[in-house]
Amino acid sequence: MDTDVLIIGCGPAGVQAAIHSSRAKVKTTVVGKTINSSVHGTDIENYFGVVSEGDTILADGIAQAKSFGAEFINQNVVTSATQDGSFLFTTDDGTEIKAKAVIIATGVSRKKLAVPGEKELFGKGVSYCAVCDCNFYKGRRVVLVGNESEAAVSAKFMTSYASETSWVAWDLTADDSVVTKALDAGVRLYTNRPVSIDGTDKVESITLVDGTVIPTDGVFIELGAKSAADIAMDIGVMPEMDDTIKVDADCKTEVPGVFACGDITGKPWQVAKAVGQGCIAGLNAADFVKGN
Ligand SMILES: Cc1cc2nc3c(=O)[nH]c(=O)nc-3n(C[C@H](O)[C@H](O)[C@H](O)COP(=O)(O)OP(=O)(O)OC[C@H]3O[C@@H](n4cnc5c(N)ncnc54)[C@H](O)[C@@H]3O)c2cc1C
Repeated sequence: MDTDVLIIGCGPAGVQAAIHSSRAKVKTTVVGKTINSSVHGTDIENYFGVVSEGDTILADGIAQAKSFGAEFINQNVVTSATQDGSFLFTTDDGTEIKAKAVIIATGVSRKKLAVPGEKELFGKGVSYCAVCDCNFYKGRRVVLVGNESEAAVSAKFMTSYASETSWVAWDLTADDSVVTKALDAGVRLYTNRPVSIDGTDKVESITLVDGTVIPTDGVFIELGAKSAADIAMDIGVMPEMDDTIKVDADCKTEVPGVFACGDITGKPWQVAKAVGQGCIAGLNAADFVKGN
């Protein structure tokens, strides 16, 4: 499908961006899951004029955006690229989206596995970003850990670099099509929960709950959606060292047509800041599409 403005992320920043972009009469599509927003399940007490549950604020905002014509797709973006001045994305189920402008509103999330060795061996073989660190694993063994489509996509991606690619998933929710692609590419799937990442100065193995020990040089933890860092780099935006995306006062990134807003641009991690930047990003993305 084609759209004018694609907003990646369905939290306060993305939804506010959708309200302003769609009201500016450009075709606006939002991809993301409200259940993964940081406001899901929270009570918000410090947002101007509103004391409410986070889920209520989001539902009301989505209804507003829809009333102005914005479309919502309850999936994750799993690949991103540029082509002839446009931005191309695919979602979990393989839907392809071509956009003239992009707003990255993915919030902050680097879900931890929370097993012994993860923290101690971070940067010594433990990574949260296959696209960022793939080059370090040319001809070496890697294990991807995660249940969602992103883990399958990253596992397949790593087969182009690693000598052996294993994938550990214990509650598989990845789309069948991406699982098949990963397995066809030679990925070996283990279906037990990891209990530890092992090694002294560097990763040497990962141990599963049934006692299986998989020798490896690297463990990539991909427990959530495709990270903003991956999405950004694939369309030419280099994230900061802390994985935030730098924007100017107009919420523009270094790449024309790519905007960012909300928690992903840095602290304060607050709804008020997220919607403020969402407004700016939505208006400026619409202007970009109109050539203003
Ligand atoms: C427990 C808790 C309590 C809080 N209390 C307050 C409070 O009282 N007041 C306050 O102002 N703030 C509070 N916050 C912070 C507030 O929730 C965040 O600042 C706000 O949600 C940021 O909005 P956002 O849109 O930038 O990101 P998020 O709300 O996190 O939304 C990010 C969106 O991006 C989506 N996404 C991520 N990756 C992808 C992908 N690859 N493809 C598609 N979509 C993707 C996610 O699914 C989600 O929909 C709280 C946060 C927490 C965790």
